[in-house]
Amino acid sequence: MKNYLHLKRGVDLLHDPLLNKGTAFTAAEREQLGLRGLLSPRITTMHEQLDRVLESFRRKTSDLEKYIYLVSLQERNETLFYRVVTENLGEMMPIIYTPTVGLACQKWGHFFRRSRGLYISTEDRGQITRILGNWPHPDIRMIVVTDGERILGLGDLGANGMGIPLGKLSLYTACAGLHPAQCLPIMLDVGTDTESLLADPLYIGLPNHRLRGPAYDEFLEEFVTSVQMFFPKACLQFEDFGNANAFSLLQRYRDRICTFNDDIQGTAAVTLAGLASSLRLTGGRLADRKFLFLGAGEAGIGIGHLIVEALKSEGVAEETARRQCWFVDSKGLVVRGRTDLVEHKKPFAHEHRAVSTLLESVEALKPAALIGVSGTTGGFTQPVVEAMARLNPRPVIFALSNPTSKAECTAEQAYAWSAGRAIFASGSPFAPVTLGGTTHVPGQGNNAYIFPGVGLGVVASGSTRVTDEMFFVAAKTLAGLVTDADLALGRIYPDLARIREVSLAIAVAVAEVAYARGLAREARPESVAGLVQSYVYQPVYADYV
Ligand code: NAD
Repeated sequence: MKNYLHLKRGVDLLHDPLLNKGTAFTAAEREQLGLRGLLSPRITTMHEQLDRVLESFRRKTSDLEKYIYLVSLQERNETLFYRVVTENLGEMMPIIYTPTVGLACQKWGHFFRRSRGLYISTEDRGQITRILGNWPHPDIRMIVVTDGERILGLGDLGANGMGIPLGKLSLYTACAGLHPAQCLPIMLDVGTDTESLLADPLYIGLPNHRLRGPAYDEFLEEFVTSVQMFFPKACLQFEDFGNANAFSLLQRYRDRICTFNDDIQGTAAVTLAGLASSLRLTGGRLADRKFLFLGAGEAGIGIGHLIVEALKSEGVAEETARRQCWFVDSKGLVVRGRTDLVEHKKPFAHEHRAVSTLLESVEALKPAALIGVSGTTGGFTQPVVEAMARLNPRPVIFALSNPTSKAECTAEQAYAWSAGRAIFASGSPFAPVTLGGTTHVPGQGNNAYIFPGVGLGVVASGSTRVTDEMFFVAAKTLAGLVTDADLALGRIYPDLARIREVSLAIAVAVAEVAYARGLAREARPESVAGLVQSYVYQPVYADYV
């Protein structure tokens, strides 16, 4: 960074968020870098700046205002932004990520102030390489890209979905320490089929319906090829694509480039980790359990496949392993006789009579765990949770749909309807619940525990691929970091305050897979942990003179 720094001075320096220190520039820096008079005279420490930021942040009366405040801080001074977010992750992650980022995406065009990230639209076809060249940072290692078709559980938000790549990459830096200058958020504006957005004059995207079919595939192919040419060391994370495209893009590119789909693979790892931890409360083995999903899309099917891998590693035959995972979609239980099943559901369509509701499916299959990934508010009704509690001493209830408004049930409902016996986790955070004198702390089953560490491991090792085995070891590593104290609180994930430690441990495990499988660009260093650590950005001010 130093060379780059010495090219900048005066207003240019103040306007570069990666270099700006605001009122913390020292007297010598102000003198030598042409800053005298451009800053208020009193020099403050970073700690004083942090106090000011926290005070302003906490004074905001709505989460959306807090989001806007943090984004504008990020635009001014990234070091201060990452410092405050890293030190207050429990308080700020729900603002920069789910659930508030969902609200922000819904209103994006209405509070829009300035463009962030890179937009590539269908009008840029044939010129994508040139557009990538407009990005100011050359050494990109992590790209999060969306086409906005399935933003959280909120549906097609078109170009407004840019909030998701921006938020995810903020977590790569805050949770794992990837350098912000190595991260690139991209929105592929291929239109939107949401009529209210098309009719909104303040919508920021192209007012066109979605590009589909071969033309869409060609656009994506040009994009992927251009990224490979322009940023050859970058890992490309697909995020919040509609499920038909998500599965086929993963299939098409996973063996060709360094890529993964977090909705399919990251969610799977965080869920598998939660299931493994819950066994420490219930006893028994994963191989003895049956899992019932509400929702058979990217998240659900991804989790199903990783559970199958986990069971195979316990010696269960693949077909038997699959039969332990059952899915309910909007048409009822996914069974072999159904003629309406899309390809990704078929591996989990087992022989069974038709069953139309979740409750009947619970009664028929007697699962140990119920996993909600349907984006349907209230999908876990009182009778469903009560049935789970009747069938299991400690029913596992994961309401993973985001944002909070889409959760299949709330933490309070899960605990109340199971007389406090549920082992509960949710995708977006819920506050602890006190019931009959006992306080239950819900776990946040969010892939934020997984993707930052996987990304850091892939980047540090220079892995040329992201494999399912990497997500499997990430899940194992995460589960291994859950303490007895966490479990005593009912929480099946580590405290969010430990997320950097978690991400670093996952990164080391993932990098080890890259070396073991011959995927790393460089030879294995003596200390993989040391290598990973060397990639970790610390949000502290550099001395400039
Ligand atoms: P998707 O669109 O691929 O799949 C949704 C699935 O739900 C589909 O199979 C659909 O048929 C089913 N469905 C819809 N309505 C239903 C109903 N009324 N009853 C039963 N099934 C119904 O979406 P996805 O990527 O799988 O995501 C689903 C949800 O999971 C979203 O809310 C998303 O935010 C959440 N999610 C959470 C995490 C996390 O980390 N916790 C990660 C990824 C996705």
